[in-house]
Amino acid sequence: MGLAEIKARVASEAERVGRAPESVTLIAVSKVQPNERVASVLEGGHRVFGENKVQEAAGKWPAFKEQYDGVELHLIGPLQTNKARQAMELFDVIHTVDRPKLANTIARLREEMGHCPRLFIQVNTGEEPQKAGILPADADGFIKECLDLGLEIEGLMCIPPADEEPSLHFALLKKIAHRNGLSGLSMGMSGDFETAIAQGATHVRVGSAIFGERDYS
Ligand SMILES: *Cc1c(COP(=O)(O)O)cnc(C)c1O
Repeated sequence: MGLAEIKARVASEAERVGRAPESVTLIAVSKVQPNERVASVLEGGHRVFGENKVQEAAGKWPAFKEQYDGVELHLIGPLQTNKARQAMELFDVIHTVDRPKLANTIARLREEMGHCPRLFIQVNTGEEPQKAGILPADADGFIKECLDLGLEIEGLMCIPPADEEPSLHFALLKKIAHRNGLSGLSMGMSGDFETAIAQGATHVRVGSAIFGERDYS
């Protein structure tokens, strides 16, 4: 696989379901990948990347941003409140707003810093105890709470349980987004991004299918 093939698959799935290919943003998830692989995707012209850890992103992206214009960086992993300031400096989009304490911190820092990344709320659609995200039953209230804090919410994000049919989770996320008037849907990874596009994903987060397997050793 690789960037060109995944871009082509994103576009053809969008067209197949009657959507404009530009309505789907491909986030290349570069976590854990060696810098040479990231550089080669940048050389291929791609500019939208995702990382799941603030620290790791802070170690590699400032240098890439100096070298390549127009990088757009997305935080797709859990965010601790004590790292919120650093995240808001580094990232253009945060997909993992998932609790009142974090929303409050972001709202306060937004005032202080005078800017705010674009924001998605993570929903724990599978209600998995070990996974981040607001529970589906609490989502409407939390979205309202964020809006009351003055935060603009672009959409919702989910990571379906590994052993379940992802479409049920994508459908639930879409339903919650639509009844709250939110248009952004961050859903779909290497194994299921086409399914997600068919169900309305506006942002797909694809790592290993672009870069190859991650080597955690
Ligand atoms: C790592 C990660 C991805 C990408 O996973 P792949 O299976 O490699 O495509 C997508 N979303 C989140 C939240 C991730 O942490």
